[in-house]
Amino acid sequence: MTDPLVKVMPTAYYGSMSIVDAPIVVVIGGGFGGVAAVQALAKAAVNVVLIDKQNHHLFQPLLYQVATSVLPTSNIAFPIRRIFRKQENAFIFNDEVIGIDLPSSQLVFANNRKAPYDYLIVAAGAGTSYFGHDEWAQFAPGMKSLEDATVIRNRILRAFEDAEAETDATALRAHLTFVIVGGGATGVELSGAIKELGVDSICKDYRRFDAKSARVILVEASDRLLSSMSHSSSDSALKALQDIGVEVRLGQSVTNVCADSVEIDGERVFANTIVWTAGVQANSLGASLGAELDRHGRVKVEPDCSVKGAPNVFVIGDMVTLNCAKTGKPVPGVAPAAQQMGRFVARIISHEVAARNKQAKRADANRTTKRSFDGDGTQQKNMLAERGAFVYFDKGSMATIGRAQAVAEVAGLKFHGFFAWIAWLFIHLILLVGFNNRILVFLSWAISYITYSKGSRIISGNPHSNVVSPVGSQAGNSQGQRRTVVKQLLERVQ
Ligand SMILES: Cc1cc2nc3c(=O)[nH]c(=O)nc-3n(C[C@H](O)[C@H](O)[C@H](O)COP(=O)(O)OP(=O)(O)OC[C@H]3O[C@@H](n4cnc5c(N)ncnc54)[C@H](O)[C@@H]3O)c2cc1C
Repeated sequence: MTDPLVKVMPTAYYGSMSIVDAPIVVVIGGGFGGVAAVQALAKAAVNVVLIDKQNHHLFQPLLYQVATSVLPTSNIAFPIRRIFRKQENAFIFNDEVIGIDLPSSQLVFANNRKAPYDYLIVAAGAGTSYFGHDEWAQFAPGMKSLEDATVIRNRILRAFEDAEAETDATALRAHLTFVIVGGGATGVELSGAIKELGVDSICKDYRRFDAKSARVILVEASDRLLSSMSHSSSDSALKALQDIGVEVRLGQSVTNVCADSVEIDGERVFANTIVWTAGVQANSLGASLGAELDRHGRVKVEPDCSVKGAPNVFVIGDMVTLNCAKTGKPVPGVAPAAQQMGRFVARIISHEVAARNKQAKRADANRTTKRSFDGDGTQQKNMLAERGAFVYFDKGSMATIGRAQAVAEVAGLKFHGFFAWIAWLFIHLILLVGFNNRILVFLSWAISYITYSKGSRIISGNPHSNVVSPVGSQAGNSQGQRRTVVKQLLERVQ
């Protein structure tokens, strides 16, 4: 196998300057951190190589709207290649990095392919943690990718279809019970949206059961929702969820998950749809850096986001654990933090490359700008002093709760209700990548708000049905049996 980078680099130019000999900055991950880093390197005399196993940048904050049929998948994903089509020093590869070989400064791909880097920015994000119970994943999917959101959408819509076909009252309750584990922003938003789906959007589409009676249970182990926000926002979110009929269980933990039920503090609740939004586990690439990790697998980086002993390797976004240099508080795992880290490390790289180029010109020395890092502790200490430490600028946080309700904390101000919801809508529209996506999402929201309909109620991939006793299963052609079927069809199941 040939090195994927070799063919491309000689054709790389930045403006009128050939950058064939310029350093290669590899960015792993085209999420919030990676994209911000590559964009911030647009004017640097470097070759930027962005590698992502997906071909799209994903706007994770709206995943729950895909899961609840508000938006189609294409509205919240944008081809990474298109983001950078005008950035001449950026090269995009759709590939999966499986390891990082620090001593030889190379990335490792499948089939033992390797690619070199001079600087490396690792921004590969995080996945779901089941707190040591990975076997629960098959029954309670997490929500991190478009595939996850599609699986959840299929299960939710399938559950309503199953309810329409069910004649067994106990099974019906399981079809109409939705358990969301984790009371962070994703759990709050998802549980509100599922309840809203049953109450406002689809209740008139089914004949045999009352979709409004769908039971949505939100389980949170701590004593409040949205623990990263203030107590008043937590209380508002709790009240708003309870007002629309979500059953919130605070201070309770999930102790087991099976195909047909979940155990909450020892109580078995039968449910065919369980979603896990409780835990986060950083991407396993962090482990191949040999650096110290926290219990979520996040890399303990230096204050400048570099890896101890490897000053040319940075880790950013959801993969790191780091305290803000100004407040001393842990930097949260949110999109703005990943973006700010991306820009911060890009600035460091740009400055260092520019400084070396100046030096090289002055000395009229060898034009190669490649720098070797000896991993010497003193060198890294001196560099750290020059580079400065990462400071997180907290722009605030918000979460929406069903129709026209949200909580928001921005610039020290707390507001709840309709205005918070409007703020939430506009901020998310602005942050979405792609003009088309913004227009399409805005239209979907407007239509959904006015008509109460959800535009993407598509079950794909034929997920299996959980119906225990379907209407007509006893059917024969005798008059009595036909009458039974008709009776079943007309009967409303409670
Ligand atoms: C459901 C949900 C809702 C959220 N809501 C909000 C919100 O409302 N506000 C907010 O600020 N934050 C929110 N977040 C958090 C926010 O999305 C993350 O903090 C942010 O995405 C982190 O950015 P990142 O660049 O570190 O990783 P990501 O954005 O996750 O990007 C990682 C990228 O790396 C790629 N990748 C992974 N492994 C490899 C590999 N081995 N090789 C190549 N590529 C790889 C992935 O394909 C992905 O594109 C939410 C997260 C989720 C899951």
